[in-house]
Amino acid sequence: KSAFAKVKTEPPVEVFHLVKVFQADKHEQKVNLGIGAYRTDENKPFVLPVVKKCEIEVVNDAKLNHEYLPILGNPDFTKAATEMVLGKDSKALKEKRTLSVQTISGTGGIRLAAEFMCQHLQRRTVFVPNPTWENHMKIFKQAGFKHIKQYKYWNAKKRKLDMSSILRELSEAPEGAVVLMHASAHNPTGMDPSKAQWHQIAELIKQRRLFPFFDCAYQGFASGDIESDAFAIRHFVDAGLETILVQSFAKNMGLYNERVGNLVVVLNDKQQLPAVASQFTILVRINYSNPPAFGSRVVHKVLSVEQNRKEWEQTVCMMASRVKDMRKQLADKLKQLDTPGTWDHIVQQTGMFSYTGLTPKHVQKLKDDKHIYMLSSGRANICGLTTKNVDYVAKSISEVVK
Ligand code: PLP
Repeated sequence: KSAFAKVKTEPPVEVFHLVKVFQADKHEQKVNLGIGAYRTDENKPFVLPVVKKCEIEVVNDAKLNHEYLPILGNPDFTKAATEMVLGKDSKALKEKRTLSVQTISGTGGIRLAAEFMCQHLQRRTVFVPNPTWENHMKIFKQAGFKHIKQYKYWNAKKRKLDMSSILRELSEAPEGAVVLMHASAHNPTGMDPSKAQWHQIAELIKQRRLFPFFDCAYQGFASGDIESDAFAIRHFVDAGLETILVQSFAKNMGLYNERVGNLVVVLNDKQQLPAVASQFTILVRINYSNPPAFGSRVVHKVLSVEQNRKEWEQTVCMMASRVKDMRKQLADKLKQLDTPGTWDHIVQQTGMFSYTGLTPKHVQKLKDDKHIYMLSSGRANICGLTTKNVDYVAKSISEVVK
């Protein structure tokens, strides 16, 4: 008998499974609105030109080699990434009370943060938005959290942020609980709190002594502006809150498979830094010893050379505008077709996704009859729309809804 006889088969991971099914579909008009990756108007993956340029420079740099990076990563990269998210003039940076750790993109960073918070901050309860990225709850559970709770974030009927539920449910959270927030471009709803609402949330978290944790996977994708999209994090830090945040460069640099991320701990007392750093060092060492170098070198070159940085910021802005434009076209066309329901939320939402409000039945029908793929939750990646397929998608949605 095999030692593996009792291994249970789990269902596939929905987004990645959809990619496979999509690739096998031979229909000419097929459209993939599943996985969260940017596409050009030609429906092609996008290598940002400035990223490509920096990649070539890194490959050709005779001074570089393949020696191991330090356990906490490439310090030039983590410094540049941390300045990007906290702002160069951040008080916390000036007071040297931050720690940065290079991570295996966003996912690896969240896992590392969750392990640290469980083992060294003795946290067992986390509150994540409902809905949220489907991986969040699983990561926290695997890292040892016992109570994985959700706070209501979305008013499905009005298709907008449910601020009163957020405040009510977080005010009932037990002291010390970790509160996970999306720094910008909330996945899947595409709706972020306003500045005034972030003020209220920060105040509540401070009063209730909860622990804020930020997932920052889309800096730049919400507004098109890197600085504006860091507002929430910077506000919490300015308000004197300690926090941990995780950045991903998958989306805003198009470096999905290079797995480049950065974790930042902001402490109030810099005396604690060496202890915290020592624990992260051990966690990384026993997980994967040290991170990969290539992507971190590329990101560092993009962020630290002024001309590159400028070009990159313009490209991020261009990507965000293309998505915005596709939102408008889709919503306009749905309205022109007298599609039952309201569609303004598609335009109001930001980032890559629209939480369309389509039901699992609609989604199934779109897939089976129209060869249009999206998540069963009704989340559609607007980056998968192009000026060539938006008519077909609008017409198809209109038909399945009618
Ligand atoms: N957080 C959110 C909200 C995401 O949507 C994603 C990716 O889809 C991630 C984190 C992690 O991405 P990665 O591990 O590719 O950086």
